[in-house]
Amino acid sequence: MYKDIYKDIEIFNIKGVAASTYAKLRKLGITSLYDLIYYFPRAYDDRTNLKKIGELRGDEYVVLKANIMSVTAPPTRTGLKMVKATVNDGTGMLEVVWFQRPYLRKSLEIGEEYIFIGNVKRGYTFQMVNPEFKLYKGQQNSGEILPIYSSIKEMNQNTLRRIIKSAMQEYGGSFQENIPREIMEKYKIIGREEALKEIHFPSNPRMLEEAKRRFAIEELLVLEMGILQKRFEIDLSNRGAYSLQGHKKLVSKFVGSLPFDLTTAQKKVITEIYKGLNDGKLINYLIQGDVGSGKTIVAVLLLLYMVENGYQGVMMAPTEILATQHYLSIYETLEKLGVRVELLTGSVKGKKRTELLKDLASGEIKIVIGTHAIIEDSVEFNKLGLIVIDEQHRFGVLQRKRLRDKGVLANLIVMSATPIPRSLALSIYGDLDVAIIDELPPGRKPIKTKWISSNEDEDKMYNFIDKKLKEGRQAYFVASLIDESEKLSAKSTEELYSEVMSKLPNYRVGILHGRMKNKEKDEVMHLFKAHQLDILVSTLVIEVGVNVPNSSVMVITNSERFGLSTLHQLRGRVGRGEHQSYCFLISTTENDSSGARLKVLESTEDGFKIAEEDLKLRKAGEIFGVKQSGLSDLKFVDIVHDVKTIRLVKDICVEYLKTHNGKIKNNILEWDIEEKFNKSLTS
Ligand code: ADP
Ligand code: MG
Repeated sequence: MYKDIYKDIEIFNIKGVAASTYAKLRKLGITSLYDLIYYFPRAYDDRTNLKKIGELRGDEYVVLKANIMSVTAPPTRTGLKMVKATVNDGTGMLEVVWFQRPYLRKSLEIGEEYIFIGNVKRGYTFQMVNPEFKLYKGQQNSGEILPIYSSIKEMNQNTLRRIIKSAMQEYGGSFQENIPREIMEKYKIIGREEALKEIHFPSNPRMLEEAKRRFAIEELLVLEMGILQKRFEIDLSNRGAYSLQGHKKLVSKFVGSLPFDLTTAQKKVITEIYKGLNDGKLINYLIQGDVGSGKTIVAVLLLLYMVENGYQGVMMAPTEILATQHYLSIYETLEKLGVRVELLTGSVKGKKRTELLKDLASGEIKIVIGTHAIIEDSVEFNKLGLIVIDEQHRFGVLQRKRLRDKGVLANLIVMSATPIPRSLALSIYGDLDVAIIDELPPGRKPIKTKWISSNEDEDKMYNFIDKKLKEGRQAYFVASLIDESEKLSAKSTEELYSEVMSKLPNYRVGILHGRMKNKEKDEVMHLFKAHQLDILVSTLVIEVGVNVPNSSVMVITNSERFGLSTLHQLRGRVGRGEHQSYCFLISTTENDSSGARLKVLESTEDGFKIAEEDLKLRKAGEIFGVKQSGLSDLKFVDIVHDVKTIRLVKDICVEYLKTHNGKIKNNILEWDIEEKFNKSLTS
């Protein structure tokens, strides 16, 4: 197989790279010629597109040209040495300051025009702090767009530019094309060589955009083609692997036994997935549904469908508590239908376990419910047909690959209550289909949510909760720490436990945290469910899935420490029964963005809206599933804003693989994929 030789050429072979420069380049993470040439500018000094001071909005990275009117060195409170210049470009004035560079006071020339490059912040006036700058004199007619690289102090921009230019001149022309020609032609993508030239030294803004587009596509192509090719192979080799007879008797009986009607959204998703299952291809679905949308029933129905058509099924949950809860909620109904279902967790040991495993292997047990350990262990099935993974936003490409590598070939359904915008979901989970339960069962009362920010409010809250408990309701209190050894000023579970006991002395309080043994946790959870406890103080353990309809109050302390989605999940533990429910978010945060998040929760219960706000307030890499998808280490693509490109590339890949029967007819692309999947995704 052809290998991109530039990844092997060390940088000291490049003209103009002295030993001292070599060390600096290494600091920038550049060791090979490839690294150097793919070290793209983080911004451009675009003289063709200078920003006017009068048009500034603040919080933007700009290049502007302005006259220095005055330079002063005012004292600062912190004792830092500051040099301050006031500049003017005819459309407005701007303050430019530098810290710890006192010599600038002498060298900046009043009355001269300078180019300033940097971030403009908006305070009581616009201000630029520590910008790069240079005298504009004699450059009036240059009109060029200069690259600005991320660099280190010891390495100035001009040196980097010179080295990269020299490398480009010597080797730029011999980079071979890694996008198949037909794709380039059809989608009008510029060639690798030209794009490299334009990304470093753009001839004009339009060509720079073309170059950026090309590298975004190139980068996505490697990832998505890789993922989709795997999927293509699996589809191909398993065509007809599952032939379902389409029996639905048990399923109908089960539906008939439910005390409620399925929602339209539930039905839609079930029908869609039936179709997929009947197709004979292996399905790979992500079912998204907000907290309380009724995903469990959907999963059980699909498992049952597989069972009555001759297969076994697995349902996996992230914790033993959840697995147990699922088991308890369905086993009776299923046993009545003559379907044997068992719970298999780490706590099932010894003879019981041996027997269970035997009955699974013989096919006597039809459905097994447990934690993820089911698949990790060497559990044998007779005829496994469907794996359902509940509450799992962290089940990425890699984990799926691992399953397949173990020879586990079954239909796969991942269920998540962390909604992410559909377009993003499709791109993150390149090889998944996405179905959304976009409706809650009828009759749910909205949860009243309040941000508690003072001691006074907190006292009122305790009085209120006291009233609710008297009425027979139950309450959750969530702490963000397990014990006091974590040094932050947040409340530990133990502290919260004593506080709750002293404030609400007439009630039975239980505690649940991660260091307890599974058996102890189960006992506490069981007591709470049976209403032998009124209050449950806990860590995040209860984040997902727990279902106690009588519980109508959720209190979350130090709520600024949790992400929006987590808070939404926690809140979803209440509002599950007929009672009006309440959520109190305790936080004395003065941080603007934390405050903004809490306000989002006060204003809406729509998980999708919350997810979108979450996206705006967080970095892409923190979104569930993104890290595991391989999308988070993309350099040229911003997965939040480039959703369109991500979709385009997905379509390109699907079309290409179809045309070429799953083969990739470009050696370099093939090699890039190999490298990506062997190196980055397995770590
Ligand atoms: P989630 O999607 O958060 O996992 P669950 O599956 O735990 O939600 O369902 C939440 C509650 O709603 C359960 O008590 C379940 O029995 C109930 N439920 C599910 N579907 C319906 C429906 N169509 N109508 C009324 N209640 C439903
Ligand atoms: Mg659930």
